[in-house]
Amino acid sequence: MATARQVLGAFGEEMVVKNCSCPRCKRTKTLVRLPTNFKCADVICDFCGYLAQVKAASVRNVGVVPNTVLGAAWGPQKERMDAFVFFPLFLVLVDKTKNYSIFYLSADLQTPTMFRPRTPLSENARRAGWQGFIYLLDQVSSSFVRLR
Ligand SMILES: [Zn+2]
Repeated sequence: MATARQVLGAFGEEMVVKNCSCPRCKRTKTLVRLPTNFKCADVICDFCGYLAQVKAASVRNVGVVPNTVLGAAWGPQKERMDAFVFFPLFLVLVDKTKNYSIFYLSADLQTPTMFRPRTPLSENARRAGWQGFIYLLDQVSSSFVRLR
C-alpha cells in the first residue's frame, strides 16, 4: 500500500507529464516519469534528455507558493550541490478538492541555502539515521513561474 505522501508524489509527477511541455526542447508530451529509486530527478524528456525534479505539496491556496516544503533525502542533494549540480523544480500544489497548480523554478535561480537539512531520524525510527531536507521557498518565491 502506498502512503498518502507517495500517492501525492505520484499525482504531482502525473500532472507534470500530462500538462507540461519540455522547458528545454519545447516539445509537448515528451516528459516521462523516472523510476522512484532514481536519485534527484523525477521526470526526463525522452526527446532531449532534460531532467527535472517534481515536488507535490498539499496546500489551502494553490495560487501561493508555500514558504517551506518537505524535501527528500539530504545526502544525494548535498553531494550534487557540492558539485554545483542543481535540477529544475516543478512544484505541484494540490488542495483538498484536488484542484491543482504547477509552478516552475529554473535550476539557475536556485540557491544552496534554500535546501536546509533536517535532524536525522532517531534510533527508534523505522528508517533510523535517515536524514531529509526542507525546501525554504520563501527565499526564491519571486523566481517561480506559474505554468498552470
Ligand atoms: Zn526536451
